[in-house]
Amino acid sequence: MAIEAPEPAEQPEPGDPCRCTETPHDRLQPHRELGMDQRYGQVSLLTCPECGQLWLRYHYEQEAFTASGRWYLGAIPAQQAPGMTAEQAKAILEGLSWYFYGGSFYDGRIGKACGPIW
Ligand SMILES: [Zn+2]
Repeated sequence: MAIEAPEPAEQPEPGDPCRCTETPHDRLQPHRELGMDQRYGQVSLLTCPECGQLWLRYHYEQEAFTASGRWYLGAIPAQQAPGMTAEQAKAILEGLSWYFYGGSFYDGRIGKACGPIW
């Protein structure tokens, strides 16, 4: 006799946009480290463990200045990931329609923005 297992409660409804586009997912999985660009921004690619969305993360900090730490996180199409270099990250983020930002530079606030990233 077959008993249907109930769906796990945290399973998103099909077709629902993943909540990682509302707030940055706190357990994004490392996909690839791209290293540093010319401005010593640390660039990495991450994926959402729930929807598989690819995220480009750019972390920048001037060690001589307090509260200068800032990060940017933008959703990019998976086909853009292969061959991407750290040097391209800033321009790619600035070309997106929106990205998350946060860090001590923003008093720890997290928000959405677009345009130049500093
Ligand atoms: Zn997601």
